Amino acid sequence: MITMTTSISAERLKLNLRSQNKETGKSATETEVAKWDTEKTAIIICDMWDDHWCKSAARRVEEMAPALNETVKTARRMGVFVIHAPSSVVDFYKDTPQRKLARNSPFAKTPVKLSTSPRWGTAWCWTDGKREGVLPIDDSDMGCSCKGKKCEIREAWKRQNKLIEMVEGDALTDNGQETYNLLAERKIDNVILCGVHLNMCVLGRPFAIRQMVKLGKNVALMRDMTDTMYNPERPPGVDHFTGTDLVVKHVEKFWCPSFVSTDITGKEAFRFNEDKRKKPNGRRP
Ligand SMILES: [Zn+2]
Repeated sequence: MITMTTSISAERLKLNLRSQNKETGKSATETEVAKWDTEKTAIIICDMWDDHWCKSAARRVEEMAPALNETVKTARRMGVFVIHAPSSVVDFYKDTPQRKLARNSPFAKTPVKLSTSPRWGTAWCWTDGKREGVLPIDDSDMGCSCKGKKCEIREAWKRQNKLIEMVEGDALTDNGQETYNLLAERKIDNVILCGVHLNMCVLGRPFAIRQMVKLGKNVALMRDMTDTMYNPERPPGVDHFTGTDLVVKHVEKFWCPSFVSTDITGKEAFRFNEDKRKKPNGRRP
């Protein structure tokens, strides 16, 4: 049986959506206030796994997870539909109501063909050179940001991070068609992406930014609730968090606007402890 969460009255999210103007000579950053009906909005939590092959990446996920969970709880309470998307470990959840909700959602035909592969079904959306050129950071080494000895790449994850709560009415999938079915069933036009890692999965997964934009959804990135795989020793040679900011701006320029969790929670935006850069107001964290 499908249980749908209904809120008592229609609520709206007021989001300060930031984008980057592509036209040179104009002021680069623009902010527009959008009001999204919570019942027509989903939040997709990308690849917040229990562990990662890179120790630094795993540590940052663990640090971000409680703040992300609080934000998701607030959004859910307001009527936003929550999709957990821990790629490649959905079988861990095969008997859960969240997985069944996704599997049982009726098929809905997509307006454009989903990115697919014969072997895996819905598939990765690679960097679209015509639309976005190349990413502003070099992640060709896979982006281990640890100092000294680099972490060995391995399948480190088994499930979603336990700090992210799942409740009845949430769904769980890593499949593009299932994601589209869930959204269509609920007439959801607005999709918020968060989780890790922005230069890879949050852009490229079958439920993530590139595919959702191509499907015509109103997409927004929650930019303080993400991270990148970026090694500061690689071009452009900036610190890890500046590297993340560069990718955020890339997304804002070529794919979708972004906002901070403050727009949902009313609390200060999330910031990693290791981010020692000055805050915009000049104070150190
Ligand atoms: Zn590492």
